[in-house]
Amino acid sequence: MSTRAGDEGTAPERAAASPIDMPWLEEPLRRILATLGAHALLIHGPGNVGQFELALALARGWLCERNELPLADRPCGRCASCRLHAARSHPDLLVLVPDAMRESLGWEQGESAAEENGEGGRKKPSKDIRVEAVRTAIAFATTTSARGRGKFVVVHPAERMNEVAASAFLKTLEEPVGDARFLLCSAAPDRLLPTIRSRCQQVALPIPPQAAAEAWLAEQGVAEPAVLLAASGGQPQDAAERAAGGLDAAAWLALPRRVAQGDASALQGWPLPLAVEALQKVCHDALCMAAGGEPRYFPRDHVVADASLASLLLWSRELARVAIEAEHPWAVDLAIESLVGQGREALKTPRSQHREARGLSLHSRR
Ligand SMILES: [Zn+2]
Repeated sequence: MSTRAGDEGTAPERAAASPIDMPWLEEPLRRILATLGAHALLIHGPGNVGQFELALALARGWLCERNELPLADRPCGRCASCRLHAARSHPDLLVLVPDAMRESLGWEQGESAAEENGEGGRKKPSKDIRVEAVRTAIAFATTTSARGRGKFVVVHPAERMNEVAASAFLKTLEEPVGDARFLLCSAAPDRLLPTIRSRCQQVALPIPPQAAAEAWLAEQGVAEPAVLLAASGGQPQDAAERAAGGLDAAAWLALPRRVAQGDASALQGWPLPLAVEALQKVCHDALCMAAGGEPRYFPRDHVVADASLASLLLWSRELARVAIEAEHPWAVDLAIESLVGQGREALKTPRSQHREARGLSLHSRR
């Protein structure tokens, strides 16, 4: 869904004018493309701001075979290499992503470590980048480039390499072989081994300008992009993903009030990690307002503004505790109900409205 590297402009002008479909990445793309940089880049940013798309576009630009074009103006979108890249079958590009993310990234073809290990689709796809996949990448990196432009390994998200995988990867960074370059993408570089971080040239991507992000979301067909963008902390890809997952602006705006009413059905059917994250945002904004600050994820007039700091802090601690374990197989409905129940207590509206709120919550339970 979010992978646009395959979009092929047939008209040469179009391909040249828009090497990447996220306008806020055009400047870093051209700037980094103009050089070959270090043999390992760490592209990081706050959340998803296009790290993966930038890494793919860089690889595509460096692999492009139009010699008369300056590096910064590639990829041309038309040469054999660009076509192979668009078809996701370039022999000199290997993309390492957790198997669980392949589908959502639209990167199902190609170098699946699970396939190569004969695991097929039987097992639950891994959320980690495992050592087997890293070994495949290392072997790939040591062979000669098929089209003579070097080899590229994109690792996304790099922090999903588990400990063993990261150590194996570190060895390759320490003793580079051949003409391979590594493009690591990360939304949490502090979770990488410091030794991996220190061996990479760092590329920091900021949160995109709000107007550009909203325009991009509107182009993706997202209704009320401003609300969903704020809901995602300014990260357009997350906002697009949430919209695709069925979240609409009205439901988001109503969330703080519904939680204040103890209405757990507001989050029914949500995966626990997303539900906890949403509650953390409700709590965060209530805390900001209680402390005299500005909310971040909801407009001011949708935040429950009169809650007590002390009870919000208790709720916030409980949310943080559950967030750590949210990937575990909880009884999801019960966990959400319990967290919303604590939220209702924390967000307690003035006494006169409180009785009414409790009455409402009785009807909302399934
Ligand atoms: Zn090309």
